[in-house]
Amino acid sequence: MVKRFVIRVNGIVQGVGFRPFIYRLALEHQIKGYVLNDTEGVTIEIEGDEQRLKSFLEKLKNEFPPLAVIQEIKVEEKPLKGFKNFIIKKSRTTSRKTTFIPPDTNLCKDCLKELFDPSDRRYFYPFIVCTHCGPRFSIVKDIPYDRNNTSMAEFKMCEECKREYEDPLNRRFHTQPTACPVCGPSLFLYDKKKTLLSSDTKTILKSVLEFIKQGKIIAVKSYGGFHLVCDACKDEVVLELRKRKRRPFKPFAIMVADIEKAEEFLYISPVEKELLLSKERPIVLLKEKKKVVSKFVAPGLSYLGVMLPYTPFHHLLFFLNKDMILVMTSGNFSDEPICFKDEEAFERLKNIADYFVTYNREIVSHSDDSVIFVLKETPIFIRRSKGFVPVPFILKKELQKEIFAGGGDLKNCFAIAKEKFVILSQYLGDLEYRVTQEVYERTVKHFFKIFDLNPEIFVCDMHPGYFTTRIVKELAGDREIIRVQHHHAHIISVMMEHEIEEPVIGIAFDGTGYGTDGNLWGSEILIADRKKFTRMAHFSYFPLPGGEKAIKEVWRIGLSLLWKTGFYKDFFSEENYRDIVLTQLEKRINTPLSCSIGRIFDGVASILGIVKVVSTEAEAPQKLEEKALNCTNPSRKFLEIKKRLFKNISLFISKEKGEWIISTEEVIKTVVTLLKEGMSIEEISLLFHLIIIKVVKKLVDILREETRIKKVVLSGGAFQNRLLLKGLWQEFEDSGYQVFFPVKYPINDGGIALGQVGFVIP
Ligand code: ZN
Ligand code: ZN
Ligand code: FE
Repeated sequence: MVKRFVIRVNGIVQGVGFRPFIYRLALEHQIKGYVLNDTEGVTIEIEGDEQRLKSFLEKLKNEFPPLAVIQEIKVEEKPLKGFKNFIIKKSRTTSRKTTFIPPDTNLCKDCLKELFDPSDRRYFYPFIVCTHCGPRFSIVKDIPYDRNNTSMAEFKMCEECKREYEDPLNRRFHTQPTACPVCGPSLFLYDKKKTLLSSDTKTILKSVLEFIKQGKIIAVKSYGGFHLVCDACKDEVVLELRKRKRRPFKPFAIMVADIEKAEEFLYISPVEKELLLSKERPIVLLKEKKKVVSKFVAPGLSYLGVMLPYTPFHHLLFFLNKDMILVMTSGNFSDEPICFKDEEAFERLKNIADYFVTYNREIVSHSDDSVIFVLKETPIFIRRSKGFVPVPFILKKELQKEIFAGGGDLKNCFAIAKEKFVILSQYLGDLEYRVTQEVYERTVKHFFKIFDLNPEIFVCDMHPGYFTTRIVKELAGDREIIRVQHHHAHIISVMMEHEIEEPVIGIAFDGTGYGTDGNLWGSEILIADRKKFTRMAHFSYFPLPGGEKAIKEVWRIGLSLLWKTGFYKDFFSEENYRDIVLTQLEKRINTPLSCSIGRIFDGVASILGIVKVVSTEAEAPQKLEEKALNCTNPSRKFLEIKKRLFKNISLFISKEKGEWIISTEEVIKTVVTLLKEGMSIEEISLLFHLIIIKVVKKLVDILREETRIKKVVLSGGAFQNRLLLKGLWQEFEDSGYQVFFPVKYPINDGGIALGQVGFVIP
């Protein structure tokens, strides 16, 4: 029977090859009608045999183009119209709506085949691309999203490319960055003095492989910026890179040819494999099976950050040598932002890289590689950037007012919200440096432009000293500013993601966040909904001698934690400023109060002698976790003490002025006592983690008893610690709680902006 359906598809369906996909599908099914882009998505009318229409719909739902995101498909049956053929109709644009820009993604299978096909005109061409793959976000300058508003504008399409571009049946129909060796960008190799060595792709590839063999460091321009590339298996090369980059500890990511190569020396679970092979191509943290790479790639850590090739250049390089393992780390100095402009790279990386591989297409928006780890087959974001930005979060209701949320000062991402969408920016890093602040300001302006944003509401953190607080005020002028407490924002971000509206027990554990009492919070157990929270419990406060300084010189925190216990005389005797710090503590000079769990981890790591001064944030907790992970065969004594401590876990808890307090002093006393009794550092580290898990569980049980709330939300940077997250997750699940944590957004401060938006939307 012949029928007519009107289909509405909402989501990201424009500029991703959706219309040609529908066109092809209609021809395949011998269906008549039309497809049309309009303000809210795509409208399709189809007429034909009912069976065929149904099969068409089935394929539409399951085989849509990879860069499309489908939010909703509505189908209505209407009276027949008698269409003569199937056509792509001209766009109907009534009002200006947000154009969606797809993220930068891995080369697709079809392009990969062409890249290595000697008969193809794009054979070995490092800028091959199609509707389903390649750079997007990184090359867009303005809206509407067409070629003239991208950094491809200066490349005039050749006849052949133009023909493909205009043919609705071609894979490159309306592919804005389409190019070929005749008309598109090309590759260049320079030495560090900026002398051009070659502009021939094959010569460049061969030279790069040779340089890697010689132990050189090469800066290679990727989609989102420059990578620093070198042999990951040679100690002296990796150490040299650490020295030049001034990065003593923070792990480097590596790249290998394919999943088979990765499996030779890494444990890879099904979900991890899926992530590695996904079109987003994030860095996935994987446990080593065999020591193949230099121990200086991730010093002292048992997980390696690994990714697979994603630009055509990566694919070509590994095609020529499938066996090598390369360090592929962001091209920057220390913690500065990634370099993405050629001039800037030559300047800022001249003392790091020996050679530069670049190309003459400008990167407009930078992005670092995204970083994910997998726990119990669930992916958890440490960094959400390349491949994921700017994919929007879709709201249930349309917003009346546009919103800008500045995020936090650490691991910054900001967010914009308009219509039904929240869009998080790429990872912008720590805003303590002027260079990073400049990048922030530039990126905000760019987002306002490409998403045509005119916010009426501005949101920022409560911290009076944050750069973001200041800049949001500047941007807002006389428009409304709303301030959100940091840990509340952590919890709201998860409620947004999992669409929770009722109150939850929120556990926000992190490094630092400004509290409503002016102290530095960071071990918060809240009862919260999106609009308000009550602080139910936290660890007891302790002073941070020297304030900010203590975050780098963690022995100061250790000393402070010991100070009240009376044990401090035995520790830190060799530290130069020990007596000064003690006086500081006695007289309360520059000793802000904190209850941050991250700082407690810092202090304990220093008391145990694991680390005294750190080079990067979260170094101490990472090392402490690593010690605990190494405790695989605990002694009888350990088990006895554990049993005793767990039985008496309530001793760590008390109620003061209506708030539950977990005694930081008791935790420290336990650690010191065990240390004095000669228990191993590994066992103490593990026990310390277990005490925290048990005591938090105990407290939440009390809160559940009081409030009948069964939904628990975990968020905050401290949950990047596998033991802590897995431990609490398991405990809660075993006791019948519903446990939620961020899965699509960063668990650390990278998710704050989403929480800030969640606080202000109705
Ligand atoms: Zn492709
Ligand atoms: Zn061409
Ligand atoms: Fe935080």
